[in-house]
Amino acid sequence: MDLIRSRAQLLGVTGGAQDGSLDHHPGPSPFAHPPVRHLHRLPRPRATEIVVVPVGGLGRIGMNWTLYGHDGSWILVDAGIAFPGEDDTTGADAFIPDPETLRRLVGRIDALVVTHAHEDHIGAIQHVFPRLIDCPIWASPFAAAAISRRLDEAGTLDEADIRTLPVGGSFRVGRFTVCSIRVTHSVPEAVALAIFTPAGTLLHTGDFKLDPEPLIGLPTHIAAIRALGDAGLLAMVCDSTNAERDLPVTSEAQIRESFRKIFASRPGTVAVCCFGSNVVRAMSACDAAVRSGRRIALTGRSLRAHAATAESLGIIDPQDMLAEPSHLRGLDRREIALVCTGTQGEANAALARLAKGGDWRLPELGRGDTVIMSSSVIPGNEAALARVLDRLRGRGVEVLTQRDAPDGLPVHASGHAGRAELAAMHRHARPRFVIPVHGTDAHLRAHASLALGCGAEAAPVGAEGDVMSVCASGVKIIGRVVIPVIGIRRDMGALPRAAGAAKVAKRVPIPAMTAAA
Ligand SMILES: [Zn+2]
Ligand SMILES: [Zn+2]
Repeated sequence: MDLIRSRAQLLGVTGGAQDGSLDHHPGPSPFAHPPVRHLHRLPRPRATEIVVVPVGGLGRIGMNWTLYGHDGSWILVDAGIAFPGEDDTTGADAFIPDPETLRRLVGRIDALVVTHAHEDHIGAIQHVFPRLIDCPIWASPFAAAAISRRLDEAGTLDEADIRTLPVGGSFRVGRFTVCSIRVTHSVPEAVALAIFTPAGTLLHTGDFKLDPEPLIGLPTHIAAIRALGDAGLLAMVCDSTNAERDLPVTSEAQIRESFRKIFASRPGTVAVCCFGSNVVRAMSACDAAVRSGRRIALTGRSLRAHAATAESLGIIDPQDMLAEPSHLRGLDRREIALVCTGTQGEANAALARLAKGGDWRLPELGRGDTVIMSSSVIPGNEAALARVLDRLRGRGVEVLTQRDAPDGLPVHASGHAGRAELAAMHRHARPRFVIPVHGTDAHLRAHASLALGCGAEAAPVGAEGDVMSVCASGVKIIGRVVIPVIGIRRDMGALPRAAGAAKVAKRVPIPAMTAAA
């Protein structure tokens, strides 16, 4: 792994969300943030306040890291990567906040708590923990399995302290009591975090939507969120991804219905392309395949790994539905279905290999066959994906994308709340203060005005590195710390300057990071 440290070059880089479920325009912030006091070190958080430091995830999509401080104790929520933007010239594969600077600013971090297993929330962990920042990592069973797999590949699993958080249960970290609350998203076991302190309670929503029929797991636990509101919620730190979009409330059940109709009506092979972590989409494709008399296989390393994890945890039960991809080759095209990765047009992913043809492990696609793109494209990847889809169309393959809604049913739904669902979340939680996160400046500002419209007393739009103090008397930005954004290159040599890290990079290859992982 190589860390690229040209700060001027890298600051302001934006990337795409791991799950791609957004439409936004990457680029430097069009908004000027007011000047704030520059801090050389984070102040010791007092017992009367909760300090919130959005280390990443503001003014960009991706790289979600949020620090919470109370009574001398700090916890970090999520440690994800951002992907390079369209105009990136650094050669980096991903970006993270400089862990050394963070360690120097904070001193000790009592725990990393993870909301869900998307790259923009966990993608940095194997590059940073435990050798650059050493603390227990709390995650749901599904996310813990994904993190463990990466640390194992990095050769550091034995040194890491990974703890499974109970979905719907409480645990103590530092001076905080944290309770996880199940939410619906586009990956199994996503949680919001209720963070309890004597200075007040804060809700960190993580990525969420209010899917009434999620198919895997239960709907977002509204009663638990309402209970926080009833008891008095000091602040909510909330997903802003779709704060500008008036989206209908969508459900995985609609997507499954759509798959069933398409699978039943198409004369040839049907392939569904989705993110590797979108286990529910893969299972909906399996359901549609079985109903339409097809054999189905999963292709793509991350898809197979996530599905195996979900099966081992009892989250899904594919029984004997799944075939090996190479076993499909002898069958009639009408009897074949596939789920594959490659939603961003990645050259080595299964979709690109299907488009190219001639891969003995995969069926050949041609006229009469259908590819369903059950995903969004991350800004910056449009051209790569268009090349793959053009190649498929050139072979005579029908390509259905998010914009197509056969029989009025969508083939993809965002994993993030649109404005109506956000407003519902605000009405349930009734926080006094709202800190919009997980979005570009435009998303954050749209979310702030929505929050004020829903009754919040204040909804400050911050920037990365802002140090916000939240207490009964209000929320204020008390200063800003500078945490450089650094690039990661997966195929390069040692980490410069980082204690212990050179050993990591020399001893093991850094695992490939793909948008679909
Ligand atoms: Zn997510
Ligand atoms: Zn996210």
